[in-house]
Amino acid sequence: MAKFFLRKKIGDRVIGGHPWIFANELGDAEGAYEPGDIVEVYSYNGSFVGKGYVNPASQIRIRLVTRHKNEKIDEGFFYNRIKEAWDYRRSIGYTENCRLIFGEADQLPALIIDKFNDYFVIQTLALGMDIWKGAIAEALGRIFKPKGIYERNDVPVRELEGMPQQKGFLSEPFDTQIIINENGLKFHVDIENGQKTGWFLDQQDNRRAIQHIVKDANVLEAFSYTGSFSVHAAHYGAKSVLGLDISENAVAQATRNAELNGYGDICKFSAINAFDALKAWVKEGRRYDVVILDPPAFTKSRENIEKAITGYKEINLRGMKLTKPGGFLVTASCTNLVPPEMFLKTIAMAAKDAHRTLRQVSWQTQASDHPIMWNIPATQYLKFLIVQVN
Ligand code: SAH
Repeated sequence: MAKFFLRKKIGDRVIGGHPWIFANELGDAEGAYEPGDIVEVYSYNGSFVGKGYVNPASQIRIRLVTRHKNEKIDEGFFYNRIKEAWDYRRSIGYTENCRLIFGEADQLPALIIDKFNDYFVIQTLALGMDIWKGAIAEALGRIFKPKGIYERNDVPVRELEGMPQQKGFLSEPFDTQIIINENGLKFHVDIENGQKTGWFLDQQDNRRAIQHIVKDANVLEAFSYTGSFSVHAAHYGAKSVLGLDISENAVAQATRNAELNGYGDICKFSAINAFDALKAWVKEGRRYDVVILDPPAFTKSRENIEKAITGYKEINLRGMKLTKPGGFLVTASCTNLVPPEMFLKTIAMAAKDAHRTLRQVSWQTQASDHPIMWNIPATQYLKFLIVQVN
């Protein structure tokens, strides 16, 4: 097995538990290896740090999968890690749906597995993980006897690893239009063509957080995708809900989800650019009791954080203006590139410009099946805020 040595000045982050090792953090290397192979990593003075997979084509040269020298990386390793992750999810209350593997937080860097009851959707986002796809599917088979496993590797980040985008079955083919239960409601999930893995599990607790504020309310939800917040709002007693999404498919799916739960009359959805709609409706003087904003990550790279901040500020400013005095703004951000303090600052700037004062109702993050590792800051990515707007 090839050996890599960390540079002298670097290593604290890695030794402190972060699994990523960048190309410029590595000094000497010994032995031959192929891209994707498991290699050993040592500190500059030769003490063992961990084992991980290497990819010379990636800026993240090595991702560590174990800190134990004697732990063998084979089929059994993947079985054990997945089993542990499931035991952990069960111990914190998950039974049916959950993010079963949240990459680095489950010591399986670049692996995502979402469990939708008997169906599993997986993403292998680095070469060294992709190589083990067969072992991972087999482990899922042994642990869960699933009705289906699907690969959603149609994501651009794979290209940074020199891998193609692809999707397809990792089990016998099955009907990829499924229905899941969440918070006592039912939702259509399109495993094959939905965004990401088909359903955003991370907002599960936050969807419940709107329970009291939407009662008898007229609700506007921008960026509504599957209509998850809208349907929850109707369920919790909203008078009317209007959801906006730029994608026709999302609007069709949200409409089907409202109908599936008997809220087809209360929830309406419209395919429209939310930036345009919010702007125009502020001008018209429209007002809602509750405005919900759950936009996509406005940036994927550090260079564009300013652009993201501008986007968040604009929609939140308009969202506040559309909220009746005493009404509520529900607002989220799903990129780890905008840390919590920066998000709150942006909301504060928007309030200042909108000449509104905010009273905080709740301030939350992603559901706990997406564990936050205190030594891996990027594992905290979702910000979720409810404020009363006065
Ligand atoms: N709240 C949803 C997730 C929203 S994801 C949930 O809980 O599942 C973000 C959504 O914003 C996507 O569906 C995307 O199609 C939509 N979107 C992106 N840009 C948009 C724009 N300019 N106007 C309206 N919708 C947009």
